[in-house]
Amino acid sequence: MRWTERQLAMLEAMGIRLWGPAGDRSTAFAEKTSPRGPDDGPEAASAVAAAPASDVRGSPTRRAAEPRMAGAPGVWRVLADEAAGCTACALCAGRTRSVFGTGHPQADWLILGDAPEADDDRSGEPFAGRTGRLLDNMLGAVGLSRAEAPAGRRVYLTQAVKCHPPNGRAPEAAELAACEPFLRRQVALVQPRVIVALGRAAAQALLGSAEPIGRLRGRVHRYAGVPVVATHHPLFLLRHAQAKAEAWDDLCLAVETVMDSSGG
Ligand code: SF4
Repeated sequence: MRWTERQLAMLEAMGIRLWGPAGDRSTAFAEKTSPRGPDDGPEAASAVAAAPASDVRGSPTRRAAEPRMAGAPGVWRVLADEAAGCTACALCAGRTRSVFGTGHPQADWLILGDAPEADDDRSGEPFAGRTGRLLDNMLGAVGLSRAEAPAGRRVYLTQAVKCHPPNGRAPEAAELAACEPFLRRQVALVQPRVIVALGRAAAQALLGSAEPIGRLRGRVHRYAGVPVVATHHPLFLLRHAQAKAEAWDDLCLAVETVMDSSGG
């Protein structure tokens, strides 16, 4: 994706300085990634009953003037405690701890992975391991940070299921469905301007679509009224470097969506 002069001016005004040469900034995270490693795994293969995802590009949500009700810290604590004790699906049997989510409770961006990895299961933090480092590079390339950041650059990270599947397998359709109420409440509390779904299972959880990411990416969908951009999971990108350019395009689409929702 090539930025228009208007978009570049807006990014500049937002204080977002894109790394790399104009025209193709996918190298912003392509150069910082690690080669394939032993913890690489397949993308989600399970499917739920397909429902066509709506393409709403060109009609972005405009929510700039809407007040946010992020909820008191106690609400988040109660939700996290519920997840910690949840036995609604079989994944509870193998978890060390549930991985509820982290980030700013009023972030513009909600980043959704598929399931906690082994590092996440040990630490209780989503995207704690090697894929998390690539994700941080991807977010940094568009001026975002999971650390404390000014408004507009904040992210909230969570997973479609909160418990680590055995052997790192993809979450199954029934598990995604069982855990979706947590996700729905997180989205309602954060009220993000965009959700970025990383990988097929994350997109499945939001869109109810069994289609592969290749057919879902490149357009804007919706979940609970919030724009959704689907792209490749960082784990997939570690194994398929050529897909990083597509992921970069998808992040640019998400930035564009946020800018449009801000009245730009
Ligand atoms: Fe409950 Fe979700 Fe964990 Fe399943 S994955 S046990 S639904 S918290």
